[in-house]
Amino acid sequence: MNLRLPKLASLSRPRGLQARAVVFTAMLMAVTAAVSAAILIFGAQTEGERQQLSITRDLTEHLATRAGDIMARGNTRVLEMMIQGSTQQRNVRSISIRDAQGAVLAQSGGDAQDNIIMARVTQRALSDRVSAYNRSADGVVTVASPVIREGHVIGVAVRMWEADAYKFDAVPSLTPFLLILACLALAAIPLTSHAVRQTIAPLDELARYAAKVGEEGQAPPINIRTGDEFETLANALNNMTGRLDASMRQIQEIAFVDPVTRLPNQDRFIREVDFFILQSQSTKGGAAVAVVDLMRLPRLLQTLDPDAAREFLRVVADRFVSSVRTVDRVVRMRPQGDRPAVPARLGASEFGVFVPDLLSASDAARFAQHLNAALDQPFDWRGHKFTLGACCGVALAAHDGGDADTAIRHARMAMAAAHAAPARVKIYTQSLDREAVARLTLEREMRGALERNEFRAYFQPKINLATGRIEACEALARWIRPDRTIISPGRFIPVAEESGLIGALSDAIMREACWKAAAWARAGQPAKVAVNVSALQFRSDRFAENVLRVVAHAGLAPSNLELEITESMVMADPDRALRIIKPLRDAGVRLAIDDFGCGHSSLAALSKLPFDVIKIDQQFIRALEKGDTQSAAIVEMILALARTLNMEIVAEGVERREDMEFMAARGCHWIQGFLFGAAVSAPEFAELLRRQAGDDVSAEDAA
Ligand code: C2E
Ligand code: CA
Ligand code: CA
Repeated sequence: MNLRLPKLASLSRPRGLQARAVVFTAMLMAVTAAVSAAILIFGAQTEGERQQLSITRDLTEHLATRAGDIMARGNTRVLEMMIQGSTQQRNVRSISIRDAQGAVLAQSGGDAQDNIIMARVTQRALSDRVSAYNRSADGVVTVASPVIREGHVIGVAVRMWEADAYKFDAVPSLTPFLLILACLALAAIPLTSHAVRQTIAPLDELARYAAKVGEEGQAPPINIRTGDEFETLANALNNMTGRLDASMRQIQEIAFVDPVTRLPNQDRFIREVDFFILQSQSTKGGAAVAVVDLMRLPRLLQTLDPDAAREFLRVVADRFVSSVRTVDRVVRMRPQGDRPAVPARLGASEFGVFVPDLLSASDAARFAQHLNAALDQPFDWRGHKFTLGACCGVALAAHDGGDADTAIRHARMAMAAAHAAPARVKIYTQSLDREAVARLTLEREMRGALERNEFRAYFQPKINLATGRIEACEALARWIRPDRTIISPGRFIPVAEESGLIGALSDAIMREACWKAAAWARAGQPAKVAVNVSALQFRSDRFAENVLRVVAHAGLAPSNLELEITESMVMADPDRALRIIKPLRDAGVRLAIDDFGCGHSSLAALSKLPFDVIKIDQQFIRALEKGDTQSAAIVEMILALARTLNMEIVAEGVERREDMEFMAARGCHWIQGFLFGAAVSAPEFAELLRRQAGDDVSAEDAA
């Protein structure tokens, strides 16, 4: 059982991380190179300027010393020659020797602008008596050094240098540095790449693991032993998926397994069938879906306390599973490796079986019959014997329904019909669908009819053969429609039983019958009234109580009421039947077994049950008409049995005088049938009784 996870957006693995690390390293190196170069260039420039200034000052001071010597000698001509020689030097813009007032003694180079600058610096050197300098915006350096002789400033030597005299050219000096840096950067790329790959390897593994969990919902635990955060993360992930796995399993359990029996539940069953149908669309395979109702299960469970009920359900489920396995083996003769039938619990007393590769309706019917038979075998639990009463409906999944829901609905429909079918097995056909619709319409109409009191009791006379008089009757339900049409029970009783309306309907008939019978008795024409009991009424533990209340209400002598209970209702659970009818019998109500001979009565059970009357089933009377000697023998046996058990016999469905005579000759007590009349309305029946009483009077008068 593997619940598919919704597909998650696929997780991207950290492949980009490596590239990003390389780019980052390269950028870092580039920035480092740029910053270093900038620092170098800037540093070199200021250093160049500082040097230029220092050299200029030294040279100027030297010039001042030499000029002082020459000036002391008063030889201006020599001064000029000295200056000429100096200005031939590259980058010397101007050299000038001035007196203590700043007036030029000798000069070479320099324009008007230079002269202004030189005059200004000269003034500063003269006043400060130390070297003064100036650096103009375009980098031209001017230094003026005082010429000092015996403590007196006698003049000034001025030197003016071009801006680029000592300019530091950064590029050539930086080239090797930049080259080394570039080589380092090149080497750093694979190194960084490798280092990053090594570092993020566990992360890669974690990402792959997460992707697998995301896609498949599970993965074997991940094993990372790096002793760092990766290991912590891996352990956390393992814990998380472990818990996720456990939760998923729990959810699947809750969602798809019946908690008591541990069998697949309806949802799971639907999935199983749907999956098969989907698969078999290509293979054109077929499968059967069977729904089994264990009819006696709800009542058995009602009698148990919750713990015992659960245990019993588990025993029943085990039995169901083993029955399915056996039948699967026997009926399908399943070759090894074929898909086995899948049992499931669909409802309180409803179980399902999905049988793959079952194609024909006849195979499906055989499967269902065998399953019913296996489930109907009595079994022991806590020292008691139980039978479950299985009822099975089957639909062929591939033929009948496009999907699992439809197949299961069809199988359920067949199961409902199976309750009244031979061997309690029904295979779904389309007519069941139409019937279901008609039944639903009828059911709806019946609810209204019940409210409007349209169901009335009609009374069919019963002749006491000893006196030849109508001394009793059977109340039979009739539906009198507003348009006065009469619908007979054959049509509405099955629907009433299925829908549960039978309870209300039977109660209404019972009430009317009791009230009418009480009225006849009060009028001096008593007649016992027999009322049919439905299986649903009989299932109620308060049945006897309800009947006795109605009888008391109506003011009817209990001995004037007879309850007709069918053989099958009694024999389903004779012990319980006894418990239910005992109080009625004690109160004096008469009890009849209806339709006797068509069910399976156990003589032992029959002898223990306090019945007063046996109603021989109509089929035996029908058979008599056809001259069936076997039926005649059965009728004689039933009559003998009744005599032995001291019970009265009613022959119903008698239409021919010969049959009445046949029955009378063999000691039958009561005759009911069209020979004496069909069921009539209460006033008509009262009239029959009155007329009979009138005949009696006139007969007496005649005597
Ligand atoms: P049932 O209890 O066996 O009733 C006897 C049926 O045989 C009645 O059919 C009756 O009209 C019919 N019948 C009587 N004499 C003859 C005859 O000479 N020839 C033939 N061919 N039929 C005869 P009905 O009234 O259609 O009832 C059918 C069944 O419906 C009843 O069978 C009974 O099981 C059920 N039913 C009728 N009324 C009620 C009711 O009030 N409550 C319950 N629970 N069931 C009822
Ligand atoms: Ca009856
Ligand atoms: Ca009957």
